[in-house]
Amino acid sequence: MNTCSTCGFVVRIAEHSESDKLVTFYSPELGRITGIAKGAQSSKKRFVNKLEPFSHLRLLYRPPRDPAGLYFISEAELLCAHLPLRMDFRRYAAAMHLCELLLRFTRENDPDPRLYALLQWALTALCADKAPQKIMVFFHLRLLAAIGYRPELDQCGLCGQPVSPGHAYALAPGGGSLACNACNPLAARVSPRLSVQTLRLLASAQSTALERLTRLQISRQGVIEAMDALHYYTLHLLQQDIHSWTATRSLLAGAS
Ligand SMILES: [Zn+2]
Repeated sequence: MNTCSTCGFVVRIAEHSESDKLVTFYSPELGRITGIAKGAQSSKKRFVNKLEPFSHLRLLYRPPRDPAGLYFISEAELLCAHLPLRMDFRRYAAAMHLCELLLRFTRENDPDPRLYALLQWALTALCADKAPQKIMVFFHLRLLAAIGYRPELDQCGLCGQPVSPGHAYALAPGGGSLACNACNPLAARVSPRLSVQTLRLLASAQSTALERLTRLQISRQGVIEAMDALHYYTLHLLQQDIHSWTATRSLLAGAS
């Protein structure tokens, strides 16, 4: 079988047997794939410093014979290591969290160039920007939109009135739309609340082009509200917890 080549980002690495590694990779043409790198733990030569989380690589691979099987990774060329993500714990936590979200919300062999572009934007922005919590919030918001679960943040989902000062808002139970305090006073007790200022910023982040997204500024309180609301909605969608959430929230919500 012929050897093929693709570029993409490492989103998960796991040791496999005594000498191999399992690499989960997101590529524009293949989507999320998992491959085995034989001898990656023992023979360092072909893979040294390459098979690391968040690395941008060109892989040489052979596809699996069976669609559910593993790709066979024969070689890797490092395009960008994204080193700043491994040298700063807050950036690392944010990158781990967004990779976990991508893993949970995607299937193998289901490529989506928008998700690839979003991942590329987020990892690059995390390396350069001093506010990892902001990048993480925007990534989460845009990921939900790309997979068809864009939350409705500019109007109350019950009365249809646009978000306006003087009202209080919370995510409606379930989380895909808002409930204003006039429509559902109970929502605010069970769901994360979102201030008008945060809602306006998030609505703007939903429509701003990726290359201009890092210019948007969000307050510390806005980050906390957004992280909690997006997490609440995500739990409802996945019906299971996100492993990296507790550590990520305490690290990033406490930082300015
Ligand atoms: Zn309403």
